[in-house]
Amino acid sequence: CGIVGYVGERSSIDVLMGGLRRLEYRGYDSAGVAIVDDDGTIETAKRAGKLKVLADEIEAHPLHRGGTGIGHTRWATHGGPTDGNAHPHLGDEGRLALIHNGIIENFAQLKDELLAEGYEFASETDTEVAAVLLGREYRAKGDLREAFRTTVARLDGAFTLLAVHQDAPGLVVGARRNSPLVIGLGEGENFLGSDVAAFVEYTKRAVAIGQDQIVAITADGVDVTDFDGEPVEVEPFDVAWDA
Ligand code: GLU
Repeated sequence: CGIVGYVGERSSIDVLMGGLRRLEYRGYDSAGVAIVDDDGTIETAKRAGKLKVLADEIEAHPLHRGGTGIGHTRWATHGGPTDGNAHPHLGDEGRLALIHNGIIENFAQLKDELLAEGYEFASETDTEVAAVLLGREYRAKGDLREAFRTTVARLDGAFTLLAVHQDAPGLVVGARRNSPLVIGLGEGENFLGSDVAAFVEYTKRAVAIGQDQIVAITADGVDVTDFDGEPVEVEPFDVAWDA
C-alpha cells in the first residue's frame, strides 16, 4: 500500500519510519522495514497492526543504523494481516528483502514452479513469490538490476516492487507496472516512494517512474531503464507542497 526507499548518509530507519507515517493516510494493516549497512548486514522487522506496533518492536530490539533501506505498509490482498504475511519478504536465503504494492495475478503458477524446484515459502502472500523468484534470478545473474529484468518479465498484474540485497549495500532497485513509483532526488542521498509524501520532508525534486520501468538508486545517482534494460531519460519536476 505505502512504499518508501532510501540510500544516503542518514540513518535509514528514521527516514523510512517517517515516510511510512506520512503515507498512513492511505490505510494499512501491517508494516515492515529492511535495512542494509555498509558491511552488508541485512536486518528486517515487520508487524501486523499500526506503525506504533512496529516502532515499539524496533525500540525493544533496535536495528542497526545503516543508510540503505526499504519500508512498507501493507493492505492485505493475499494472506491475512499477520506478522508473517507482512512485508518485507525474503529471497536468496535471507540475503535479499522485497516489498510490494499491488497484486501478482499469476503467483499461484509461479509458486508451483518454485516449489517444484525445492524453494520454500514462509507466507501466504503473492508477494513472496516475487521475492523468491528475484533471489533465484540473482543467483543466476549476479546482478540485482538484471535479476529484476528477468523477474518482472515473469510477473502479471499490478506491482510496485523495491528490493535490497546484502551483497549490494548502497543500492535500492525498484520496478513498476500499473502501480505508482516516484524518485525523490537529494544531494548525496536519494529516495523512492509510492507517492511524494514519502520523501517530501527531504526533497521537492522528483521523477515519476513510467509504466514498465526499472529504477536503481544509489546515494549519488539514479538509473532508469525499461523492462528490456534500455536507458530511459528522466525528467525531474518540482513538487508543489506546502508543509
Ligand atoms: N498483494 C500483496 C499482499 O497481499 C500487497 C498488498 C499491498 O499492496 O499492500 O501482501
